Amino acid sequence: MRYATFSLPDDPSERLGLARGETIVDVHALVSGKAGADLPRTLLELIERGRDTWERLARLVNQALGADPPRSAEVRWRAPIPRPRKNIICLGQNYISHVKESALARGREFKIPEAPVFFTKAPTAVNGPYDPVPWDPTVTAQVDYEAELGVVIGISGKNIPRARALEHVFGYTVINDVSARDLQQRHLQWFKGKSLDGFCPMGPVVVSADEFGDPQAKRIALRINGVEKQNSNTANMIFPVDAIIEALSQGMTLEPGDIIATGTPEGVGLGRTPQEFLKDGDIVETEIEGIGTLRNRIVKM
Ligand code: MG
Repeated sequence: MRYATFSLPDDPSERLGLARGETIVDVHALVSGKAGADLPRTLLELIERGRDTWERLARLVNQALGADPPRSAEVRWRAPIPRPRKNIICLGQNYISHVKESALARGREFKIPEAPVFFTKAPTAVNGPYDPVPWDPTVTAQVDYEAELGVVIGISGKNIPRARALEHVFGYTVINDVSARDLQQRHLQWFKGKSLDGFCPMGPVVVSADEFGDPQAKRIALRINGVEKQNSNTANMIFPVDAIIEALSQGMTLEPGDIIATGTPEGVGLGRTPQEFLKDGDIVETEIEGIGTLRNRIVKM
């Protein structure tokens, strides 16, 4: 299943959709009136209801999807979870090549982390897959990009063993961990520089775990104005998704709807010579094989 969240031009409320290519099928329009169709209104609500509801909805949808399902013509694609209940949990330094480029750029010693490096982004940073990323030059002069695989937790758990970790995943999405490098540096902790409004484009869909398959075998890429800047594979993560979930859940409960951004490969602007930061009007495309592409314009405010 390829879940999407959308709203209508005259109604900003979140709606649950299914992506079919470039268009969205309104789940409620598709299956309303079916026996026992007590449907969740939003993707977050669907996730929170648990596996029985996921399976029931998938059955209803598959029965109702004919050759030509009703499509919503004019919609606004939203982030799959536009307002997460918690901060987005992020990994820093999870691809060796990115650890190297960051160390070089900061004049620090190159050292592969022995444990996952965690930080978070504020929920107010979440942005739609095709929405502009606002840039206020009086706040930051160094806006950078980071293509990342996003993991959406589906089943609550604590002290989850690695061998069972992927059973807790609802699905996968694309995240651009937009970063204000000067703020990261100035405030020592990364939180502020990672959390500006609109600095977490997400989507365009959440692909269910069963459909996505192995999360460690997907191409991950990012382009600016059509020029490739990042191109790697999730196989290159230092800590793969199951190891991340095991470590994160030690003594700390993960809940349905929690989102984990799993780190970025090499090629960010900070690590280039000379360094490159995003400018007004730049189009950033963030792509992961099997999910899709975010397309966000940088807009100076
Ligand atoms: Mg990142």
